Amino acid sequence: MTTQIFYLKGSSEDEVAIQRAAHVIRKGGIVVFPTETVYGLGASAFDEEAVLKIFRAKGRPADNPLIVHIASLDQLYEVISHLPVEEETLRKLANWLWPGPITFILPRSQKVPAMVSGGLSTVGVRMPAHPVAQRLIELSGVPLAAPSANLSGRPSPTRESHVLEDMSGRADVILLAGRTPLGVESTVIDLTTSPPRLLRPGPVDPVRLQELLGMEIEINDAARGLITQERPVSPGMKYRHYAPSKSLILIEGTEEFVLTVMREFIEIHPSAVICSVQTARALGYEDHVLVWGEREDLFSAAKNLFELLRQAEKLPVDVIIAEGVNEKGIGLAVMNRLRRAASEVIKRTSL
Ligand code: AMP
Ligand code: MG
Repeated sequence: MTTQIFYLKGSSEDEVAIQRAAHVIRKGGIVVFPTETVYGLGASAFDEEAVLKIFRAKGRPADNPLIVHIASLDQLYEVISHLPVEEETLRKLANWLWPGPITFILPRSQKVPAMVSGGLSTVGVRMPAHPVAQRLIELSGVPLAAPSANLSGRPSPTRESHVLEDMSGRADVILLAGRTPLGVESTVIDLTTSPPRLLRPGPVDPVRLQELLGMEIEINDAARGLITQERPVSPGMKYRHYAPSKSLILIEGTEEFVLTVMREFIEIHPSAVICSVQTARALGYEDHVLVWGEREDLFSAAKNLFELLRQAEKLPVDVIIAEGVNEKGIGLAVMNRLRRAASEVIKRTSL
């Protein structure tokens, strides 16, 4: 397949490229577009054949659902059958958090083919904040079903080069607009259960969600990335989010504990690469260390996470040693992704 690639510059010329992409969507094609979280691979959410092309292009298992992206609240009512919560509650959530990096799981309308949701009776809906994503949805005139634009099993794409690596020759159009601002996928919350359940941590802090909802939400071990469920609530949970081709050893604990374990590992695996939020600098092995953020600034850690994993995988090493971060705020999203990518977790459980 020939892929048309457009580099957007934030100028009025972008409109022509987005119009072209929207035309391709209306004709049943698939388009890569930027969002504020990661790049997405979209098709009309009402076109079963087009949606099938997404699963094929990614090599994605058919039971792993896609998120439906909308540009207005009117579109929300086209893709859901009814509201499982008070309209007032949903309006409040949407007013405060949309457009933004949060997906609500709601009952699916008949208009959305079951394939979009991997056969589930629910649908994940999000209104992205990225201007290119919004314009693309508007010009397409339909909601876009879109998962992240990586090959299945690879880290989500946060940079233009990641998209080109994974999707050249697989998508009809690619819209590139630099790095994605947040770097981890949206928070996913199931509003069809009582209490609402966090299915995937992301940039929206669950504490803020609880405040807005005025009730506790369920955050179980699966959301924390600690277990992969036998019968997952969200089919996405049963797949290792990203399975690196090398062993990824995750170390969780105090800086002192992390340093001690890293030192031991470097002795056993002298060529390992260490991915760290600054801490490993103290070891003095500059050549081995990829720094991806600071312990105190977890938004920077989230933004760099997937890029770092792609980088580490390309180095001529067998083992990747990664440092865990605090589970507060966006740190929970970082730890969910790291734990699900890890082949081994080393944790200090007692003092
Ligand atoms: P991706 O955009 O590639 O991160 O994939 C979308 C993810 O959203 C899936 O892997 C699921 O975790 C989640 N998701 C989407 N739709 C649903 C749904 N109807 N029920 C539960 N989880 C969903
Ligand atoms: Mg994905």
